[in-house]
Amino acid sequence: MSTSDSTSTGSTTPGPATSGEGRLTVVEHWIGGAPTPGTSTRRGPVWNPATGERQAEVVLGTPTDVDLAVQTAAKAFAGWQEVSVSKRAKVLFSFRELVNRHVDDLARIVTAEHGKVLSDARGEVLRGLEVVEFACGIPQLLKGEFSEQVSSGVDAYSFRQPLGVVAGITPFNFPVMVPMWMFPIAIACGNSFVLKPSERDPSAARLIAELWQQAGLPDGVFNVVQGDKEAVDALLEHPDVAAVSFVGSTPIAKYVHQNAAKTGKRVQALGGAKNHAVVLPDADLDFAADHITAAAYGSAGQRCMAISAVVAVGAAGDALVEKLRERAATVKVGPGVDDSAEMGPVVTPQARDRVVAAVEQGTAEGAKLVVDGRGLRVDGHEDGFFVGPNLLDQVTPAMSVYQEEIFGPVLVVLRAETAAEAIAVVNANPYGNGTAIFTDSGEAARTFQRQVTVGMIGVNVPIPVPMAFYSFGGWKDSLFGDRHVHGPEGVGFYTRGKAVTARWPHVEHVSDAAFHFPTSG
Ligand code: NAD
Repeated sequence: MSTSDSTSTGSTTPGPATSGEGRLTVVEHWIGGAPTPGTSTRRGPVWNPATGERQAEVVLGTPTDVDLAVQTAAKAFAGWQEVSVSKRAKVLFSFRELVNRHVDDLARIVTAEHGKVLSDARGEVLRGLEVVEFACGIPQLLKGEFSEQVSSGVDAYSFRQPLGVVAGITPFNFPVMVPMWMFPIAIACGNSFVLKPSERDPSAARLIAELWQQAGLPDGVFNVVQGDKEAVDALLEHPDVAAVSFVGSTPIAKYVHQNAAKTGKRVQALGGAKNHAVVLPDADLDFAADHITAAAYGSAGQRCMAISAVVAVGAAGDALVEKLRERAATVKVGPGVDDSAEMGPVVTPQARDRVVAAVEQGTAEGAKLVVDGRGLRVDGHEDGFFVGPNLLDQVTPAMSVYQEEIFGPVLVVLRAETAAEAIAVVNANPYGNGTAIFTDSGEAARTFQRQVTVGMIGVNVPIPVPMAFYSFGGWKDSLFGDRHVHGPEGVGFYTRGKAVTARWPHVEHVSDAAFHFPTSG
């Protein structure tokens, strides 16, 4: 299912792109090194999920705005691709220092618009920063290959070049980290970038743009177009966009993959998830329950790597459910700025309603509701979009609460008799983003990691997000396209290779031209 809530597409609140007394702040585009109001009369609401207040509005870009951003980026690309790789690395190092200095500022923006708790927001910025640090090594990453004397007097070598203007279209749940999976590497490789952030939490992208400018990146290399489907479609159709990186829900990922490919673009489109934790009876059940609880309810379950389904094997079942119940019932829910809160609200009122409806549907289909978070109220924040942790047991693969990506604080428990049966459950699921096994058995873990049809696997690690120097990506309906993001695959995605075969003949040796296909001699 799409987790899109139609909060923005219908909004039409015309008005000047300024903030002021009695007026909501308007979050604008950033094109060519400056804030830009754009040409749209449509605006989307930016909520404070903890208070339920509409705290700002975001401009929803038009094809004209997208065209301006792409043309600006294309002009900037002409110069940026000529900048030496060492100078590009220096800009990356400066950007790294600036992001590091502004970790708390970025985290506060994320918490204000997304709702996640501040420590979690800080964590997201730091994981994004790791990709910037990876990209600082671009001179090493772009080294080509060289083979001397592949034929008499002939050498062969290869190198990689940037693509041109590349676009990133990103989801609401990591407004800093997910864009940072993309643009540090794209820019380090010599491309220019147009980011279309989620319209639900658009402000972090604006601060990031300012930091790039302070770091010395030439204007126009990094641009932000705010918006929704209209802006996305314009990017997909634009002839001067060479590649698209998308992260979001599966239906939109499929749509982006198909439509970007139709216009000849390179595309990687990461989709949704249903991540299973398989718990074997030999596992330390307290350890497993602690980690699964944090992975299920952290960020109110709004992580693409959140654990949303547990497969309890054999004797692990009842004991594990009891331990999960104890922990889910005591998760501290509150506004993200409250240091004692472990879990904040969900992002919109529609997201809260969707979670409540999914739990109701689950119980109607026969699941046992062990912890009910639906009626939760947070004192002083009665209008916030809060919903507490929900735990459902006795869930079967046929139930909608299992089949759909709920993207909220809902954990479902299925039972299996054997590890092999648990692997079959994981593999029958159409998603293949992340999964984890909790066990004391190296042999069971090895079988699991070899047999599951999932891209990222944790062994006693609940959220196995690869480090920046590896690449991130799922299988099946969690990724459309063949390249994962960041790490070596990110460098591959944002560049294309050339292979050169060269010789420097003496004048007296030039007479060996032949009409047959060249063979080594
Ligand atoms: P979403 O698919 O609703 O939106 C993602 C982006 O697509 C946004 O920029 C949005 O403006 C745009 N968009 C939305 N509807 C569109 C349409 N009809 N046509 C064109 N563009 C459209 O996703 P979301 O709700 O922002 O984010 C949550 C989803 O993202 C979840 O499904 C989650 O699993 C997924 N996600 C996946 C990963 C991953 O690595 N696989 C990472 C983070 C989030």
